Amino acid sequence: MKTKVKSIEHLVENMNAEEMKDLMNEYNIKSPITGNDLSDPMEFNLMFSTSIGPTGTLKGFLRPETAQGIFVNFKRLLEFNQGKLPFAAAQIGNAFRNEISPRSGLIRVREFTMAEIEHFCEKDLKDHPKFDTVKDLQVTLYSACNQMEGKLPEEKTIGQAVGQGLIANQTLGYFMARIYLFMVKVGVNPMKLRFRQHLSNEMAHYARDCWDAECKTSYGWVECVGCADRSCYDLMAHTKATNIKLVAEKKLAQPISFCDIVDLVPKKGIIGKEFRKEAKQVIEALTNLNSDDVTAVETAIIEEITPSVIEPSFGIGRIMYAILEHNFHIREGDEQRSWLSLPPVVAPYKCSVLPLSNNPDFESFVKQLSESLTRFEVSHKVDASSGSIGRRYARTGPNSHTFWYNCGL
Ligand code: AMP
Repeated sequence: MKTKVKSIEHLVENMNAEEMKDLMNEYNIKSPITGNDLSDPMEFNLMFSTSIGPTGTLKGFLRPETAQGIFVNFKRLLEFNQGKLPFAAAQIGNAFRNEISPRSGLIRVREFTMAEIEHFCEKDLKDHPKFDTVKDLQVTLYSACNQMEGKLPEEKTIGQAVGQGLIANQTLGYFMARIYLFMVKVGVNPMKLRFRQHLSNEMAHYARDCWDAECKTSYGWVECVGCADRSCYDLMAHTKATNIKLVAEKKLAQPISFCDIVDLVPKKGIIGKEFRKEAKQVIEALTNLNSDDVTAVETAIIEEITPSVIEPSFGIGRIMYAILEHNFHIREGDEQRSWLSLPPVVAPYKCSVLPLSNNPDFESFVKQLSESLTRFEVSHKVDASSGSIGRRYARTGPNSHTFWYNCGL
């Protein structure tokens, strides 16, 4: 029975409600904990609908990701980059998903903060100029193959994984490496960080490859960042819906071979409208172009390309949750005494200034020190109250460095 269920598991995702119902009846599926009967499957939209404007007749949806704002601005962004590929844009903001069962604190919520990067590049040019800077980085990879075969994740360098074709291309590998470096920098424990490749039934039909950066927490392995090669799907979908071309232009280095015969046929109607009296001369000039002139026109031919997109997508709440769990410590045998060991880059206070004595002579030094730290934009806390140094240090909260200010030091 178990083997039979396993063999049809991957089909479920593509079934409609009726087919799912038949399957549930065939296998007599019940609620796992209570053994209760289940209701019939029903269609369910993960997007939040709302009504726009005072009449409420205009239907709208809250965005389930920030990415689409970047796609609709593609033309403008391309212009900012002088019409050249590759380039990237990033956005941070709120996203909304009508989750079936929000739970586990910040892990599954209906409104959350997302940060996304869309890196636009040519579909056949996915090498990355900075790949060499990250190729030796060692990461834990849980390939789709290992998951299917019940094997464990493996340690590999990004260079090895791209070289072996496990990670689809250099740009995807480059972003995975940058995700790793970012996560570790903000305080994720590298021993509790891995990349899990999407199985074919999880991956969108248009995606070339997709890896989730997962953090181990008390809720198990949690997806915190998705990193996908989404091919040219999004721009194509916008074009289809709006009839507006979202393409980049590429000057061909050499003519495409199937264009061997270049025939310059003047469009007389258009030329007539544009040049009026001089139209005849223009048509003549075009018709009389010699082969060199024709080649010049030919080599100036441009190709229109719909760029591919590599998309790292960060769930900020989940990352923060992982950081807090990975940096929370409890003193052995004294559970009341807990502390956070956040790295400086995310610590709210970068340091604390703790005078070791109440001697009034210290006051001006403490003030001077505090002002200097403010001038250099180092957020800090001064705690001149009485109390042991250890207690005050702990009380300052999550910080990185402490100045124990002692006279003569
Ligand atoms: P996705 O577009 O589904 O790959 O989601 C991108 C990222 O958003 C995930 O890696 C999560 O970190 C985060 N995320 C997705 N859904 C939720 C949710 N319901 N609550 C909190 N974070 C979420």
